[in-house]
Amino acid sequence: MTDKTTPSRRDVLAAGVGLLAAGGLAQAGSIATDPPRAAPSRGARAKNVIFMVADGMSIGTFSLADIALQQRDGRGLAWASLWDRPGTHRSMMSTRSADSLVTDSAAAGSSWGCGKRINNGSICWHDGHEIEPILVSARRAGKSTGLVTTARITHATPASFIAGVPKRSMEDEIARQILERGVDVALGGGAVFVTPDLLAEHPGVAVVRTAEQLRAASSTPGRLVGVFTDSHMSYELDRPETEPHLKEMAMTAIERLAANPAGFVLQIEGARVDHGGHANDFPASLFDMIAFDETVAAVADWASQRDDTLVIVTTDHGTGGPDLSVYGRQSFRGLQTLLGVRHTLSWVLEHVRETPADDQPARLARMINEHCGVTLSDDEIAWVFRPARGERVNGFNGATSIVSALGAVMANHFGVGYVSTNHTAERVEATAFGPGADALPTRIENYELHGLMTAALALPTG
Ligand SMILES: [Zn+2]
Repeated sequence: MTDKTTPSRRDVLAAGVGLLAAGGLAQAGSIATDPPRAAPSRGARAKNVIFMVADGMSIGTFSLADIALQQRDGRGLAWASLWDRPGTHRSMMSTRSADSLVTDSAAAGSSWGCGKRINNGSICWHDGHEIEPILVSARRAGKSTGLVTTARITHATPASFIAGVPKRSMEDEIARQILERGVDVALGGGAVFVTPDLLAEHPGVAVVRTAEQLRAASSTPGRLVGVFTDSHMSYELDRPETEPHLKEMAMTAIERLAANPAGFVLQIEGARVDHGGHANDFPASLFDMIAFDETVAAVADWASQRDDTLVIVTTDHGTGGPDLSVYGRQSFRGLQTLLGVRHTLSWVLEHVRETPADDQPARLARMINEHCGVTLSDDEIAWVFRPARGERVNGFNGATSIVSALGAVMANHFGVGYVSTNHTAERVEATAFGPGADALPTRIENYELHGLMTAALALPTG
């Protein structure tokens, strides 16, 4: 089964191995010494690849969204239900970067985008040069390309499929590359970088700014850029009607890209699951996770009507490491409270910060009560403001900011506590179905997913 037309899993995943040696740090357990972990691929060819990322999705976020949906709707995540379908493959994926056991989204996204393990903070860039990202290779092969995200379209994860820059903060340059590299559909936030001047240099690209304009543009041919907010789009819980739902952006992109008979490569990111983790704001992550899952369901429905599309659903790393950690009735009550929340903690804090300092405790108590259905005690309110007075609220430096303090106090009511406000090193879920999915081994290094995609698409590898 290893002749030239049916590449083995080792062939498929070989592209990224070389950089292990160049990472600079000890590479304990590198795949070079690991035994093969999967059966050979049947060598099936995909016309399209849809790569879906719930950014910063700790396994606790996944579990609690699944449990919450079971409690609310009597069914869990659509993502989890994919596992029951024949032809779906699952893997536990490592997330580390070249210079850190805890990755950032730039290195993690780039591992998929260019197939190399690189340093935190870089986008498809290593040792002073760019490593070609997959949307550039795909376009050269005649395919259409797309990026959909709830972050700025220039943010690390979408950037890592199309751009090459030494620093992720070079978002002006990333915006320029996204336009110049011919992306067919780019939808998300980030008008601050995707400026009118830049767009004026690409007069053939249609531009939309609202959900309504996106709907009106959905049947027109040609390239489309939608920037719906200056920076990131709103959390799903706080989203105004002028901003489209992630599912709407994703399905609009798919519809347009599928018009190309040569196929397409599309990345779809539920970006702000990660931001909720950084903010120890579980309502934010929970409802963005549910919005991502609704998008997974729609994409899976679309892809399962055909046999030419490889779909991969995963995350780049955990963030915050939240989990439900109270017993008995309190555990059920915590989830019920979470499901009744009407705005994120981040939205509440933003409004509290606009208030003069002396009035902030009372305003916080009032707003948490009104929007989260929780009555905080005077002692809990006092805890939240300790970091603002320079006091520690935790012995761990990664958990002693005001958002940590609010997150910890809310854990008394939601039952959900956090490890820190940082990313985590946890292994993460990767799910794949469609042609080429059978090359997914049960354990995988993040950069190996690149080879899985390029092999399925028969793209030449750098
Ligand atoms: Zn993050």
